[in-house]
Amino acid sequence: MSEISYRTAAEKLWGQAGAYVHEAYARHLPLFPGLPEEMPIVIGITAYGGCVGLTRAGHPALDGPRITIASNLFAVGRRRVDDTMAHEMLHAWLITTGKPTEHDTDAWYRAVRELSPAVLGHALAVERGTDRKSVRVPNPNYAPGGDEPRTVVRKVRVASQHAKVATWPSAFRPEGFDYGKPISCPTY
Ligand SMILES: [Zn+2]
Repeated sequence: MSEISYRTAAEKLWGQAGAYVHEAYARHLPLFPGLPEEMPIVIGITAYGGCVGLTRAGHPALDGPRITIASNLFAVGRRRVDDTMAHEMLHAWLITTGKPTEHDTDAWYRAVRELSPAVLGHALAVERGTDRKSVRVPNPNYAPGGDEPRTVVRKVRVASQHAKVATWPSAFRPEGFDYGKPISCPTY
């Protein structure tokens, strides 16, 4: 039995869309030193419909990260697929290099700052934790003559870029961004 590459298999399964995700992987690979030359990439309808991509690792059936790309991205345009590949490759890179993989981590923010010039074409000055600030509020337990202070400090959530940083890089594309030609993707 001859070995076939993930790319060849993906092209058999999803045609040009299957070939494209592997081209996008190879193109972004120099940004993520330590990721393997090839990775298994699944194209399908992601859970709950809201997710445009998914990277998982640690399942006993997998020997490394695996990327899933939502099939409906291909109709938007190829650069939309590129954006989600960059996002998922960042998750895969964080997994591979043993860093925290969640969006609300210093590792994610640091990588977003470092990668944005190459991926978005401009720097992005995002700082983690700017969605919370300390405010002084009346203490509900205060009673005259009691031990409780009159006011206490609470952390409250304020408007921030975190929702956008969690969907980097696509959330930072300008309105009307040209995503390029669509690719036909056989979902079923
Ligand atoms: Zn993510």
